[in-house]
Amino acid sequence: MPATILDGTKIASEIRAEVAAEVKSLASAGLRPGLAVVLVGHNPASEIYVRGKVKSSEEVGLYSEKHAPAETASTDELLALVEDLNRRDEIDGILVQLPLPPQVDSKKVLMAVDPAKDVDGFHPMNVGLLSTQRPGLVPCTPGGVMEILRRSKIPVAGQEAVLVGRSDIVGKPMAMLLLNANATVTVCHSKTHDLSGVCRRADILVAAIGRAGMITRDFVKPGAAVIDVGMNKVTDRADFERFFKGDEKREQAFAKNGSTLVGDVHPEVAEVAGAITPVPGGVGPLTIAMLMSNTVRAAKLRRAAAVPVG
Ligand code: NAP
Repeated sequence: MPATILDGTKIASEIRAEVAAEVKSLASAGLRPGLAVVLVGHNPASEIYVRGKVKSSEEVGLYSEKHAPAETASTDELLALVEDLNRRDEIDGILVQLPLPPQVDSKKVLMAVDPAKDVDGFHPMNVGLLSTQRPGLVPCTPGGVMEILRRSKIPVAGQEAVLVGRSDIVGKPMAMLLLNANATVTVCHSKTHDLSGVCRRADILVAAIGRAGMITRDFVKPGAAVIDVGMNKVTDRADFERFFKGDEKREQAFAKNGSTLVGDVHPEVAEVAGAITPVPGGVGPLTIAMLMSNTVRAAKLRRAAAVPVG
């Protein structure tokens, strides 16, 4: 039986609707959550991401502002900007879009963001709060994966969860979230022996690798839930055919755009998995939705002690 498709676009729109309702009620109590996005220079991919974040903020009713220092900005200039945003009470979330230009000490800039406004959840303070199960801000992509699991009623407690990837922004926080939800967690990486054998143990398999279609059917236990975080652009015709031969819809899009997006999971996995996130339309849409949700959470944690934090 083919896998249930976990529709991230639908789940993300549910979350945005919930956030919009919450923003409305907070705003009527005089607290309008605010997000500041910092985009340095003109990286085309970053410009697209930032546009999406600002547009989504407007749609859910958040106050948002964009800061666009020049490509030549120094570490000190960015530190001064972050300090100013840290000081402003109406700004609840600060997002510094990565990558920063090479002359900038990125770690120093990210460390300067007030942890209470760190809506990306990357600050070591938030990493520590997550690992000790205290209220804080959780990175958006793994937070979004947990929402997909929860809202799709996929059991986590007591299940074998296997992650492939151990980055600071996806793999590690994902492992901590699943562990906090009482899964038995295994984290794999490029040095893992018998990767397919370890993956086949998984009831929940999360791929965050950055390698197109690497997880094939022999990595997957029949019936497992497979979460594909990967986003890889395929432009080569031979690669395209390896993944999507016979898929007419994809064929048309590839012919029109000269590229298509593929995850870290090979599409053939849908034939063995119990449930699977598609690419596009799976984990991707959750990332921005969770940024909106984190901004509201940051506002409540920091500014409204009387408002219950869920
Ligand atoms: P990353 O920092 O490059 O980390 C990749 C991880 O995969 C590393 O831990 C690496 O192991 C592991 N890996 C690489 N090759 C491997 C192999 N052959 N076998 C086993 N493990 C291997 O990537 P990331 O930032 O976590 O992103 C991963 C993917 O998710 C990318 O495709 C990215 O575009 C996508 N992504 C999507 C979203 C979204 O919103 N949907 C958000 C963030 C990222 P080592 O640690 O040993 O090197």
